[in-house]
Amino acid sequence: LLDPTGILNPDVVLSEDPQIHLKNLKPMPAADEIVDKCIECGFCEPVCPSNGLTLTPRQRIVIWRDIQARKRAGVDTTEIERLYHYHGVETCAATGLCAQRCPVGINTGDLVRKLRGKEANKTGTANWLADHFATAVQGTRFMLHVANGAHLIMGTKGLAKMSAAMTKASKGRVPQWTPAMPQPLQRLHLPKAQPQDERPRVVYLAACVSRAMGPAARDQEQQPLLDATRSLLEKAGYQVVFPDNLNDLCCGQPFASKGYAEQAERKRQETRDALLKASRGGLDPIYCDTSPCTLRLVQDLADERLQVYDPVKFIRTHLLDKLDFVPQDAPIAVHVTCSTQHLGEAQALIDIARRCAKEVVVPEGIHCCGFAGDKGFTTPELNAHSLRSLKDAVQVCEEGISTSRTCEIGLSQHGGIDYHGLAYLVNRASRSKGASPA
Ligand code: SF4
Ligand code: SF4
Repeated sequence: LLDPTGILNPDVVLSEDPQIHLKNLKPMPAADEIVDKCIECGFCEPVCPSNGLTLTPRQRIVIWRDIQARKRAGVDTTEIERLYHYHGVETCAATGLCAQRCPVGINTGDLVRKLRGKEANKTGTANWLADHFATAVQGTRFMLHVANGAHLIMGTKGLAKMSAAMTKASKGRVPQWTPAMPQPLQRLHLPKAQPQDERPRVVYLAACVSRAMGPAARDQEQQPLLDATRSLLEKAGYQVVFPDNLNDLCCGQPFASKGYAEQAERKRQETRDALLKASRGGLDPIYCDTSPCTLRLVQDLADERLQVYDPVKFIRTHLLDKLDFVPQDAPIAVHVTCSTQHLGEAQALIDIARRCAKEVVVPEGIHCCGFAGDKGFTTPELNAHSLRSLKDAVQVCEEGISTSRTCEIGLSQHGGIDYHGLAYLVNRASRSKGASPA
């Protein structure tokens, strides 16, 4: 009666065509088994750091499907693939937050890592770095020493200006220096385990970033993370022991995110073996100070003897009952890393922060910071886009906490306050149970 000529949504809901259910179907060409189940619902889009900058996970899948369909039809896809390299592959943080929202469990980051693997042609370099990891960490320290020296000579403004020019001239290959850049750590001299020490033992796995990168020069916390963490663990009554050859260990994440799966797996297995030995066959718990590394070590872990904890889980399960807390008045900003979310420790991190500070700020709408290990250096626009609302959200805070040193670099730069590890805050706000206040 309302639409006698059938112009409103023809054939939708009411149709006279008995075959309508077989017509005008949305094309869903097979593209890759990782994403073939995608129903293009878009639930994954709000958490993606490249949403609004380049592509969302759904759009990455839709365009990859289109490329594959065109290829099968014999259409030249060179230009669209060239564009996809930046919009689809380069600007994906590959931290897989999309998988948490996806009703069919698709991690678009897995597809991106697979595509990076096809482009990864520096196998010789990756093998060398995997075999000489301590030298690579030492190289990072050296680069930070150079940047630190230049900062002392040229000052903050001068170095920032020169570095911006170098980054532009090198088309992004030389990372941009910012005042949030870490200072270098000295080579580590770690104490050996004392067999006569009767305190319970904890194996401390300091991630490569914690072994190379110290606090930023302007940060109020100037102690290395290793020292702050040791002090916290010892305060709770633990004897801290380190795995043998710590300098050579790596969870494999830097290799995996670049598409070098074989080297990544080799380093992960090496580290698991070293941890098994250091923990006396799994007798002692293992504290890993960086959430992304913890996640990689516990993923697909077949050996149930290893008990690997990220800072949040270790503090909540092993330290809370051994410490008394005195919350600080100054508000604190909390950044929950993607890995903390994957590990299921997001709420626990906020709860721990609430024991340490009377006011805790968790910025809304920031899910993944987009730094992604080194993307903050090589594709800084992803980090800047993802954290574009951070400064306003944390303006009442003087400091922020997180559990990943590299994420903290971008958070400090874009938030305008210094972010550092959770261990600093807990160490500052706690004392041994029953001890009298200092
Ligand atoms: S892995 Fe991260 S950056 Fe990549 S598509 Fe998923 S949410 Fe977006
Ligand atoms: S949430 Fe999953 S199914 Fe929906 S669009 Fe994203 S990847 Fe596809």
